[in-house]
This record gives sequence, structure tokens and C-alpha cells, in this order.
Amino acid sequence: MKHHQSIKDKDKKYLWHPFTQMKDWMENDIIVVEKSKGNYLYDTEGKKYLDGISSLWCNVHGHRVKAIDRAIEKQLSKITHSTLLGLSNIPAIELAESLIKIAPKGLSRVFYSDNGSTAMEIALKMAFQYWRQLSSRKTDDTRKKTKFLTFVNGYHGDTIGSVSLGGIELFHSIYKPLLFSTIRMPGPYCYRCPFHKSRDRCQNGSVMEGCISHIEKVIQKHHQKLSGVVIEPLIQGASGMLTQPPGFVKTIRHLCDKYDILMIADEVATGFGRTGLMFACEHEAVTPDIMAIAKGITAGYLPLAATLTTEKVFNAFLGKYEEKKTFFHGHTYSGNPLACVSALENLKIFRKEKTIQTIQPKIEFLKEKLKRFYDLKNVGDIRQVGLMVGIELVKDRETKEPFPYSARMGHRVILKAREYGVILRPLGDVVVLMPPLSITLGELKFLMNAPYNAIREVTSGF
Ligand SMILES: *Cc1c(COP(=O)(O)O)cnc(C)c1O
Repeated sequence: MKHHQSIKDKDKKYLWHPFTQMKDWMENDIIVVEKSKGNYLYDTEGKKYLDGISSLWCNVHGHRVKAIDRAIEKQLSKITHSTLLGLSNIPAIELAESLIKIAPKGLSRVFYSDNGSTAMEIALKMAFQYWRQLSSRKTDDTRKKTKFLTFVNGYHGDTIGSVSLGGIELFHSIYKPLLFSTIRMPGPYCYRCPFHKSRDRCQNGSVMEGCISHIEKVIQKHHQKLSGVVIEPLIQGASGMLTQPPGFVKTIRHLCDKYDILMIADEVATGFGRTGLMFACEHEAVTPDIMAIAKGITAGYLPLAATLTTEKVFNAFLGKYEEKKTFFHGHTYSGNPLACVSALENLKIFRKEKTIQTIQPKIEFLKEKLKRFYDLKNVGDIRQVGLMVGIELVKDRETKEPFPYSARMGHRVILKAREYGVILRPLGDVVVLMPPLSITLGELKFLMNAPYNAIREVTSGF
């Protein structure tokens, strides 16, 4: 007991936690995770919790997967790190081949980094440099293509370039003086349609058409200076699981082709089975020109990310040494062999266990069981894509009036859910469920009971 207290004290004395009001943190009891098994986490006091958010959206097959553990151990006896700058290594090469095999058709090159934010920094630098180096076209000046079209409520990471692409006021507004400007459009959510100021879901064809013609007008106006359109396909994650109308991703692809703009898909959250297919773009048979992947890539084991692109983009970087067309970007740990072997083993498990197939009944089960949440008067909306769920809490379902920011309803709910043995992390007043793909139907039932009871109990006083 004493030991547990001292480790908590040391946390509060030495650590600064991400996305955390530390005053709040230091004044409250905290959970220190010590070990794990399967889909469960165990704290220093021996309490067991279901990992309801896949350790921040990255765990895939559960914790301590024997095959991945063994693959890492095997690699430990060879080499843990060697650079990709001027040298290569076997796991990095093999993983690149494996990623290209499963990626949307047409993506053919893999550029490594170590987190989602850097994967997106690379995407934007790659797109920017691509247009500057396209010299074959004599008529139009592609050097003017320096801007990005982004969406309100987009999230692409926390480094300055990624923050520039993002559009979440709460996270991003303070840094405005540091950011480059983008052309920002209202998001394509099928909820509170920004174009029609309607509270109805934007799912019927005509509403969708209205949105699309608006977006096309913006693209048409700016296309000569547009380098890329940056999109989280199917669903904007960090802004609260805002889903897009069917056909939206395909339409963006079509507009990018029509106006000669690169399509940049941020699949950092949606990749690796999360949406029910390996990548979200597959749902609409779309191949982006650049695709960023990270969270699920190593099954939640080690930091790794990749930016994939086509031969068309890659070729624009080829030239004589003195032409200086090199992509001047790289990270110390790019293509780290330990991370790459865990990613390779992750993909092997996807094949061997037919993970994409086995999650389908779980997605259906989740969809069916989520309906019950509408019994709760403060549930304003439920949004789901695959195994990504957002349950939005509102003060009034009719008007969608939110709870006051200071009430911290989402936070209260997840604290309550811990009493039911489930770890969650909300996005404001959106309660997120993001279980590992390995979750069983029984565990899913257990997982959903926690927020259900927690929402009922916490909101009953309001
Ligand atoms: C998490 C996330 C990122 C940032 O990834 P990090 O590894 O946290 O830097 C970027 N884009 C999306 C869509 C994400 O969900």
C-alpha cells in the first residue's frame, strides 16, 4: 500500500501529463497501470479494468499477445535500432512490402516516422514539395499550389504543421499566431448540417448534394493554389466522432481528380480494422494520393507511423543529386526494427485470425446494443463507424443544448464508469467507446453497461 502511494506521489511530483489540467490531476486520486492481460489493464492496487479505449485507440489484438511478444524478443537478439538514413534494415523493408500489399491499390511507397502527427507533417511537406518540383507542365504554374483545404473540427496531431491543418477551436486557437493558414470548410458531418443549419442528420441524397455543390464551389475558386485536401475519411475522431454522409470520401476523391489536387487521407485513427475494413478509404473504393497511418500499426505495442504515397508523387522527387529534389525529412527512429517487427506480427495476426471477418458480428452487436442508450434522456446522439463510437451527452435532447463546459459531464461519466470496471476517456461531452478489435461479445456487453449506468447516475442530478 505504502509503495502504491509513493509511486502516485512521485507521479504528481515529476510528471506533466498530456491534455491534462495538472492542477486537477494533482488534487485527485489517480490510477497507475502496472500490468495487462488480453483486453484488461491492472492498476498498482490490483484492480482490473476493461480497456475501453484501446489504450488511446491504438491497441488491436489485446495486450501481451504471445506472437507479438515473441517477435519482439526475437528481434531483441539481433538489433534494436539502426538508422534508415544511409542504411536499411530487414524489418523496415519487409513491413513496407506488407503495408503496400494491404493498402488501397496504387499506394506504392512507405515513408516511416514514429507518430500520427509526424506522419501528417510528412504528408503536408510531401504534397507541398511535390507541386514545386513538377516541372513537366509548362502551361500552369504548379508552384502556386501551396495551400491546403481542411475541415472545421479536423484533427491531425499536435505538432505545429498538424495543428495548422486541424480545426478544433479548443485545442488550436491559442496557437493561431504560430500557424500557417489553410482554406477551411465546415465539416461534412451528417449531424447539425453546417450548410443547412439543420439539426437533422444529413443523410438523404438531396442534402448531400447541397453540401457537395458548396464544397465544389470552394474548391473551384481556390484550386490553382490548392496543394491538397486533407481529410479524416468516414469519421472525424478527436472532434467527437463526427461521421460523414455515405459517398462523401468518394466525392472528395472525384473533386481532387477534377481540379488536380492531392487527396491526403489521415487514417491515423481509422486504419487497421477500426472501421470494419482495413482502411476507411476502402469503404468507398478510394485511393488517396497520400495516406498517413499510425495508431494501430504496431497493434499498440511501440511508436511507429508511416506516410504512404503513389509512384506519381514519389517520381517528382527523383532527379540528379544537384537538382536538390531530395525529400529533406527524417527522424532518428524512422523504421525502428523493434517497432517494425511488432507491426509485421500485427499484420500476420490480421491474416491468421481473419480479424476483419471476426469483428463484423461485434460491430453489429455494438450497433444493436447502442440503441438502448437512447433510453437515457441526456443522450443527444450516438455515432458509430465500425468499432469507433461516440455517445454525445446534451442537457436537452430536443434543442441539443449542451451541458455547461464547467460541468465536465463527459469526465464525470468516465470516472463513474471506472467503478464499473471500465477505462474510458471522453472527448468533451462525447463518451467514446473504442475497444480493442479482440474484444469478445461478452466483454462488449460488460463494456457498454458501464457508460450506460454511469450516464444514468451522473445525469440524474441535472
Ligand atoms: C491521434 C491522431 C493523430 C495524431 O497521432 P499522434 O500519434 O497522437 O501524434 C493524427 N490524426 C488523427 C486522425 C488522430 O486520431
